[in-house]
Amino acid sequence: MNLNKCERCGCFYVTEGNVCPSCAPKDTNEMSKLNNYFTENAAPITINELSTATGISQKNLSRFISEKNFEYKQQIKL
Ligand SMILES: [Zn+2]
Repeated sequence: MNLNKCERCGCFYVTEGNVCPSCAPKDTNEMSKLNNYFTENAAPITINELSTATGISQKNLSRFISEKNFEYKQQIKL
């Protein structure tokens, strides 16, 4: 059995994905917050500003942005 380490809380779990089952809803929630932000705001933004605007931690933002299906990469100022 393979154990995965949750990227949010650091606990170990056996299900698929980057986060444990108890953190998965938080991830989903923040992902949709992020998508809503970019639907309403077209201007490029830094991760730091995005964190302030959405209330999502920079660590989690970096993780969301690096996912291959993230649609708004061009709007992130690096
Ligand atoms: Zn977790």
